[in-house]
Amino acid sequence: MIVGVLGAGQLARMIALAGIPLGVDFIFLDPSADACANRLGEPLIGDYNDPKLLAQLAERADVVTYEFENVPSEVAEFLASHTQVHPSPKALAVAQDRLAEKTFFHDIGIPTPDYAAVDSLESLQQAMTTIGYPAILKSRTQGYDGKGQSLLKSEDDLTGAWALLQGVPSVVEAFVPFSREVSIIAVRNVSGAIVFYPLSENLHRGGILRVSECRADDPMQRQAETYVSRLLEALDYVGVLALELFEIDGKLVANEFAPRVHNSGHWTIEGAETSQFENHLRAILDLPLGATTPVGNAAMVNFIGGLPETKDILEIPKAHLHLYDKSPRKGRKVAHATVRAENPEQLSGLVKKLSLLADQVDDS
Ligand code: AMP
Repeated sequence: MIVGVLGAGQLARMIALAGIPLGVDFIFLDPSADACANRLGEPLIGDYNDPKLLAQLAERADVVTYEFENVPSEVAEFLASHTQVHPSPKALAVAQDRLAEKTFFHDIGIPTPDYAAVDSLESLQQAMTTIGYPAILKSRTQGYDGKGQSLLKSEDDLTGAWALLQGVPSVVEAFVPFSREVSIIAVRNVSGAIVFYPLSENLHRGGILRVSECRADDPMQRQAETYVSRLLEALDYVGVLALELFEIDGKLVANEFAPRVHNSGHWTIEGAETSQFENHLRAILDLPLGATTPVGNAAMVNFIGGLPETKDILEIPKAHLHLYDKSPRKGRKVAHATVRAENPEQLSGLVKKLSLLADQVDDS
């Protein structure tokens, strides 16, 4: 079996690391010759919309998938007309545009913060009369890790925030004073079988994910499963999907979904019976899905902007280090470590130790 992947970053690399033991071969399309997954398969180096490379990929791959959601829609459509593409171009299109995404959530009964489409300073001013302060202005497309976003605290912020977004089509949404952020990673295979992982509880700083902890038996699990199932079914989705949620007053409100394996699911590599990466491959290859049962109390800490000494991390005997083979750069995710503990107290101690190491090198 040959799986083609658009993108050859760390997510593609971890998909390949999970697929090699299953006998899967990989072809990666990525503009960068030193992209970090390249050495785990055959690299095709060039633009995502290079017709020659796309034709090669479509010709040779049994299934094509991707590691990021900003794949141009015409690329996904072209590939889908020549080979199998999972998740579908429709799922990509919805996830790429915050307005389409929120409308989709709304149509299938998944709650979101109040929101409005904005395409001029006047429409922003108008929207704020109903949304209220504080609020967040977000570009409809191309935003990730908090990029293309501005917090609006009062009317005084509107002109500056709109200028910062350079007039791109945007959405403004109510700021949610959440008690915590969680995500649910779910998987649906070609035959329609669905499995869910236990909730991840996520800590962000500066809009970037820092720590995810597996929450087995979380009281919000059922609600999250109900919402993500609606999404999977409505999109006729195949593969891993991550739905990011805010918890407020015992209820869940959707922020966004990622049509791919997700950073908040990295703890599954050692912390679940089957990792999100392996289950993504099983799903798109229509193989039986693996058990998602957690193994111990698991968590993941990201290393961003810089790397501690390997030996400092490995001195924590329960730590598993995953280097992405990427050179450090401000705000760039370069590695993560996972830990499994016997009880929540031990887990919190381990997460603290890893977070200290991460903070020493973090320049974001
Ligand atoms: P996003 O790029 O939409 O995932 O946003 C990045 C992070 O900003 C989220 O994980 C939250 O921590 C924060 N954030 C985004 N939208 C909201 C909101 N409506 N209310 C409160 N915090 C938000």
